[in-house]
Amino acid sequence: MMKFDNYAVFGQPISHSKSPRIHKLFAEQTGQLMDYAAQEVPAETFAAATSRFFADGGIGLNCTVPLKELAWQYADQLTERARQAKAVNTLARQADDSILGDNTDGIGLLNDLTINHGIALKDAKVLILGAGGATRGIVPPLLEQQPSTLIIVNRNIGKAQAIAEDFAALGAVQACDYANLKDRQFDLIINATSASLSGDLPPLQADLLKAGGSCYDLAYANQATAFVTWGLANKAAHSLDGLGMLVEQAAEAFFIWRGVRPQTSPVISLLNAERALNNTNG
Ligand code: NDP
Repeated sequence: MMKFDNYAVFGQPISHSKSPRIHKLFAEQTGQLMDYAAQEVPAETFAAATSRFFADGGIGLNCTVPLKELAWQYADQLTERARQAKAVNTLARQADDSILGDNTDGIGLLNDLTINHGIALKDAKVLILGAGGATRGIVPPLLEQQPSTLIIVNRNIGKAQAIAEDFAALGAVQACDYANLKDRQFDLIINATSASLSGDLPPLQADLLKAGGSCYDLAYANQATAFVTWGLANKAAHSLDGLGMLVEQAAEAFFIWRGVRPQTSPVISLLNAERALNNTNG
């Protein structure tokens, strides 16, 4: 009998997760024998569930809300980008049974922005809305692209300041509150708040986006999110949601686990086509 290697995503809630489908498509595309399951795991039982998963032969695990910081604490070793992010979305069992923690969210966003959509970051004025775990993951790879400005705006300004201070050595990054965005304009606005999940929008003035600028919502949904709709209403050249980032971060995790890099564009196209069909039928 053929042996399938075991992978999973843990989170709460998890039933909406597209990760099992994405990894199944990657496995089919690259001929890898692997199972990938979604399991509802609350923070309280994360450590026990993760130890059981690896003790039972599991090889790789994705962790999503609200488990990324716990996964960061759980890992025996961290990649540099995970150490910086203080959050882990990918755990990988090593040959000596130790557990490596990585964070592929930042590279996932970068690949979607620059490779899939051709959005240039060098010398761009970039604004990030929100200062949670996702922002920590995306700031270092964005700074590597040398934007002229990177501003993090958050309701709780202290959280934005803490991230700006932590990454000050990597490039020009500043914190700001929403009231002080007046009279500023950006080439790229990235929504890394969780507001879209409840259909909300942070307080944004209409002229915040430069002519020809782009909007990117890390959140994704079957319908356009409130922020994607805001971008379209403000004539963004691109107004994108985070489905592409989700597929790209999954591809990086797949590469860490299997040493094979899947092609992402056919998977993104398929998921987008399914979403369009759902919307037509729904
Ligand atoms: P966190 O809970 O860590 O942070 C949430 C942030 O959103 C905080 O800064 C909070 O501000 C802010 N916020 C929440 N509601 C509002 C609102 N109504 N107005 C203004 N600000 C608000 O979440 P994460 O950083 O983990 O995730 C952020 C988003 O990114 C989520 O939508 C998540 O689904 C998405 N994501 C997508 C990925 C992908 O692959 N596409 C990968 C990772 C994340 P405050 O601090 O002031 O409370």
